Amino acid sequence: MIADNLHAVRARITQACTQAGRPVDAVQLLAVSKTFGPDAVQQAFDAGQRAFGENYIQEAVEKIAALTALPIEWHCIGPIQSNKTRLVAEHFQWAHTVDRLKIAQRLSEQRPAHLPPLQVCVQVNVDGGPTKSGVLPDEALALARAVAQLPRLQLRGLMCIPEPAIDFVAACAVFKRARGLFDALNAEGLGLDTLSMGMSADLDAAVASGSTQVRVGSAIFGARSYPAAT
Ligand SMILES: *Cc1c(COP(=O)(O)O)cnc(C)c1O
Repeated sequence: MIADNLHAVRARITQACTQAGRPVDAVQLLAVSKTFGPDAVQQAFDAGQRAFGENYIQEAVEKIAALTALPIEWHCIGPIQSNKTRLVAEHFQWAHTVDRLKIAQRLSEQRPAHLPPLQVCVQVNVDGGPTKSGVLPDEALALARAVAQLPRLQLRGLMCIPEPAIDFVAACAVFKRARGLFDALNAEGLGLDTLSMGMSADLDAAVASGSTQVRVGSAIFGARSYPAAT
């Protein structure tokens, strides 16, 4: 079932790329396996999936340990508190939710010397909700520049999680703002290659609007039956 779902999601991405006149390999699929066990990850791996996203750091670290024999690229897509930076720096290849310089500095200091630099995205609060995580668009350039200077991090791009939109057009309007910001930062010379946006419900709009990576959970693994503790 997971293999069938993965094929269906890949077909959706391909169709959205084609409709948008984008190359079919322009968008990477990140399989979001939060709340699902190592067996589910193994099934997706057997169906060819290599990049997985996790929200809850403790849960993820256990899963990563259970699957250490597999060449999986692990992405942290959940909030990172100061007391969790070491686990992220030691166990993940990517961190998507950097929205404060202090967190970035800790990740850089704590990244083990034997590992390649941690790949990071700056999370942007693109629809401006006051209680949401993510840096405001006006502050994204300054934070991105500062993160790019840190020795053990490699800045790769931007990530956003907009509120669910009422329809495709409204979703595209928000995603296109994120794409505009991404292009503006690249015009400043930041060399970003990753714009992480779009989930099960809105990946089509995200791809149409210039996403380079969609993060898809329930459309691959099914409905989540419990929220794991952070
Ligand atoms: C859970 C989650 C996803 C996947 O959501 P689905 O709707 O299940 O596809 C993507 N991104 C983040 C940050 C998430 O927390």
